[in-house]
Amino acid sequence: MSKHVVILGGGLAGLSCGYELVQCGHRVTVLEREPHVGGMASSFIEDGEEYWTQDFGPHRFHSQDANLIGHVRDILGDNVVTAQRLSRIVLFNKFFDYPLVMKNVLTSMPRWLLVKALLDYAWVRFLDSTKLRKYDDVSFESWTTRRFGRTLYKIFFGQYTEKAWKMSPSQISADWASQRITLLSLWDTIKKTMAKPKKGETPRTLVTEFIYPKYGGIGELPRGYARRIEESGTGSRVLTNAPAVKIHRDGMHVTGIEYGKHERQVIEADEYVNTIPVTALAKCLAPKAPESVIKAADSLEYVAIVFVYLKLNRPQVSPDSWVYLPEKHLTVHRISEFKNFSPYCAPKDKTLICAEITCRRGDEIWRASKDKLIELAEKDLMSVGLIGKGEVLGATIRKIPFAYPVYDLEYKKHLQPVIEYVSGLTNLKTTGRQGNFRYNNMDQSVEMGRKLGQELCTGEETGHAAVATGQEYFG
Ligand SMILES: Cc1cc2nc3c(=O)[nH]c(=O)nc-3n(C[C@H](O)[C@H](O)[C@H](O)COP(=O)(O)OP(=O)(O)OC[C@H]3O[C@@H](n4cnc5c(N)ncnc54)[C@H](O)[C@@H]3O)c2cc1C
Repeated sequence: MSKHVVILGGGLAGLSCGYELVQCGHRVTVLEREPHVGGMASSFIEDGEEYWTQDFGPHRFHSQDANLIGHVRDILGDNVVTAQRLSRIVLFNKFFDYPLVMKNVLTSMPRWLLVKALLDYAWVRFLDSTKLRKYDDVSFESWTTRRFGRTLYKIFFGQYTEKAWKMSPSQISADWASQRITLLSLWDTIKKTMAKPKKGETPRTLVTEFIYPKYGGIGELPRGYARRIEESGTGSRVLTNAPAVKIHRDGMHVTGIEYGKHERQVIEADEYVNTIPVTALAKCLAPKAPESVIKAADSLEYVAIVFVYLKLNRPQVSPDSWVYLPEKHLTVHRISEFKNFSPYCAPKDKTLICAEITCRRGDEIWRASKDKLIELAEKDLMSVGLIGKGEVLGATIRKIPFAYPVYDLEYKKHLQPVIEYVSGLTNLKTTGRQGNFRYNNMDQSVEMGRKLGQELCTGEETGHAAVATGQEYFG
């Protein structure tokens, strides 16, 4: 029997879930707050005399799962290119491969610093193995120092993390390190990047190629899902400019969603799927959730990002999909160049750089004027020699308020009661990056959404909640 399912949030998790539901004949209504679908995987297109696209920072679809790649190809149709993966770190005005490659570290790091790094790595290993000093795996700082030594930790991981998260790495959970640092220690880096693979062993490859839309930016994927949902013949709709503001309930049974910017409406369904921040969900229940749950939700924080897009009068800045800028004196922490994802993202003789600056909602950066932000980004990129004077042709600013869930040392303690409470809602399931407060990638949001959709179709458990909970490398 066909059901009506209301999905909160039109990002990849919500839309991929909706896509699966319409495949088995259910009617879906997606409520999306913004005027466009895509969430963090949105793209903005300028299609006038020249054609430009902008994503929210770099969006490289990595997955080793052939089925998933096949599915994404199916959604994108023939609007697809294969791009080469390259991302590096700029330090001491030189490029370092990321993930680290030992030969490159040895040749590019100042000699004295290299000696210091190797000595203190040996010292940290000695202290740790003799238990003279205990390095635990609780904080990012301790996890990384234990494996790379103090100097390499500071240069390659610590200063970048502090800049990107706007907090001390000693206060960030080691969960983030284990999912984001592919090589497990300095020794592992040496072994895997210097030694020749043994006979029969496949050489170490990170995902070296990835697929990306030829035109339209990564936002073509969510737009593709939205089209498929609306054209499914099930009467399904994807509503934009439709923020969910209240979740009405009778006990733990959801009875309807109140939504709308100015005029409010209530929509009722058989089942509900949530992909908006779980903290927001917990706070808009009517009647209200217990005070302890609201307090826990208020204790969970997010890093926000300001994106400065600079149109440049040159064909390319670097061949990288993105470049990290960890040095403390720079405000920007990462840049990406969309032309290296698809050459059609900018005119042939020009390019566009997206400079990211993390902040907290309401702080000085969040409130800074457009001119100030452009000036900061231009100055930083000139100071590391990535762009020259007078090359900027124009600039745009965009912001996302809930970019990175903050994995501080206490986050699990606060998250648990929130997830536990909303899991008690009998006809609502929460999923996706925001719906789980989980720092996952696009492929994982798609997997979660599809698995949940399939579960609602068949009634059989698919394990959607377990996606991206392991210690696997997220890329
Ligand atoms: C800077 C940056 C770079 C990234 N790079 C990569 C990368 O290279 N590779 C990769 O795989 N992943 C990358 N990611 C992660 C990827 O973007 C996310 O994992 C994925 O897009 C999350 O999809 P989602 O649907 O789970 O969440 P979201 O995209 O956040 O979707 C949630 C949706 O809910 C909507 N919403 C919020 N509140 C309401 C409300 N009250 N009512 C209705 N709608 C609401 C939002 O507008 C949004 O559309 C990156 C993320 C960022 C921020």
